Amino acid sequence: MGGSLSPEERLRGTGASAGIAIGRAYIADRRALRVMHRHVEAEEVAAEVTRLRDAIEVADGELERAKQKLEERQGEDHFRIFEAQQLILHDEHLVDETVRRITADRINAEWALEKTAEHIRKVFAAIEDDYLRARGEDVTWVIQRIMRSLTGEVEVDLSPPPDAIVIAHGLSPADVASLRRAAISAIVTEEGGETSHTAILARAFDIPTVVGVEGVMSKVGTGDLVIVDGDGEVIIHPGAEVVKEYRGRARRLAALEQELLKDRDLAGETEDGVRMGLTANIELADEIESAISHGAEGIGLYRTEFLFMNRPDLPTEEEHYHVACSVLDMLKGRPATFRTFDLGSDKVASFRSDHVNEQNPALGMRSIRLCLTEEGRPLFKAQLRAYLRAGLRGKIRIMFPMISGVDELREAKRVLEEARRELNMEGTPYAEDVPVGIMIEMPSAAMTADLLARESDFFSVGTNDLIQYSLAIDRENEQVSYLYTPLHPAILRLIKGVVDAAHARGIRVTMCGEMAGEPTLALLLLGLGLDELSMNPASLPVVKRVLREATFTEARQLTNEVMALATQDEIERHLLAKMRDRLPDQA
Ligand code: PEP
Ligand code: MG
Repeated sequence: MGGSLSPEERLRGTGASAGIAIGRAYIADRRALRVMHRHVEAEEVAAEVTRLRDAIEVADGELERAKQKLEERQGEDHFRIFEAQQLILHDEHLVDETVRRITADRINAEWALEKTAEHIRKVFAAIEDDYLRARGEDVTWVIQRIMRSLTGEVEVDLSPPPDAIVIAHGLSPADVASLRRAAISAIVTEEGGETSHTAILARAFDIPTVVGVEGVMSKVGTGDLVIVDGDGEVIIHPGAEVVKEYRGRARRLAALEQELLKDRDLAGETEDGVRMGLTANIELADEIESAISHGAEGIGLYRTEFLFMNRPDLPTEEEHYHVACSVLDMLKGRPATFRTFDLGSDKVASFRSDHVNEQNPALGMRSIRLCLTEEGRPLFKAQLRAYLRAGLRGKIRIMFPMISGVDELREAKRVLEEARRELNMEGTPYAEDVPVGIMIEMPSAAMTADLLARESDFFSVGTNDLIQYSLAIDRENEQVSYLYTPLHPAILRLIKGVVDAAHARGIRVTMCGEMAGEPTLALLLLGLGLDELSMNPASLPVVKRVLREATFTEARQLTNEVMALATQDEIERHLLAKMRDRLPDQA
């Protein structure tokens, strides 16, 4: 394998899923042409140069044929365009520069050509003369032609070898689900924020992941040795000493996890006897085992939309019923909150393929809105019927996502009522006492929490979206991810208002956004009055340890201090200072 001659390089991104992986890179560029990046050995250099020259000859032949066709039918101008392109094709800047890169950087022809193309594009972009600048397009076109003959332009597939470290510009949640089946060891992407669904899934599947790593695609080649530290670091071509150091860290992390798991069967109870419910977020039924083995008291959020993804057809009522029953069976008496499908935005609904091109999908036809459309309603009702029936099998709770206010809640409940009526009329048995609650993830819901509390059995605060919508920051966009923070005073106030409004009506509040699994925030959330935290299973042991080693009085005190601060920066510094000695040492 190549790469051994390249210097070590460290890149930073946003840590999206903890853990350390050491392995070989697999480049998955889903955007356009598959441009394989590979470091080559010295003896392969000549062959790569020949490949490049052959590809140029093929492209030249194509242009020659195109030119001849034109000659027969059309005028001189078009003919000249092809002639000019042939000149570019053999231009020394293009050819010699690419050969130089293959030789000096020891990289394959495609990668070298891509780098040359980047360079030429920059040179053209800087030209002031419009006409000349526009000639840059011809160069791009010619380069694409060479690239196509080098690569054979095949559709990109995602089939990395087991244990690979997948490097991609961006990946969809559906991609991550299929990568998990391929048993890869880590993910690195250029796009994405910490609460993108891609990151959430990576956490759920315990795949160390770093997102928002600028330029990583142009620096790593398939087969290169890479270390991924899920705290946010990617090391390319690490030396032997560094590999040794990270192996040691991986071992210490595993030992810490084992230590924390000793509390698995204990409650998330403070030293002065206040109890926080600790449950798990899951996307697929086969995550239940991991949830239980990490000590979950139940499932606080089942994102059922994943049942709709990665398949050509739609789930039926019977399928929902069987999934729900098998989840409840596996939980052996523990409760499970099934969120009705929250499709749309990045979680594409196959039955709405005509809507994938919305300008602002996060503000578009998604979630409960989709459930209440003519098209979505039967699917929504099928799910509700299934859960009402499954209520006879175990402790199930139904939760509606993205509720904006009382109108929408009532409308959703009308569908639930229809489902009940139908079951009654058919004589199909179902549970009458299934609790029905809502996600509080829109500012409008948070601000009408007192009204919503009168008509809901419970709340679950979805901070991933609540932050996105309150601070106007796209949770998927790595460029603004530095602004995405749960510690903005506005967010903390919204949460406090929601908890107080719920408690005034005697209903419980869970938090199921990613914020809930952040150990540094555990005491703040306890102090804010949350009753339950639902998170990715791997975070449960450490959050539980933090809670068990504190008192509620301390948590209240900390929360009061934090709520008096004016900026997120002050809040963050205060929390870090207060929590530093309370977190288990993960070094
Ligand atoms: C949330 O918005 O916080 C949430 C839990 O839902 P999702 O991440 O699935 O949008
Ligand atoms: Mg949400």
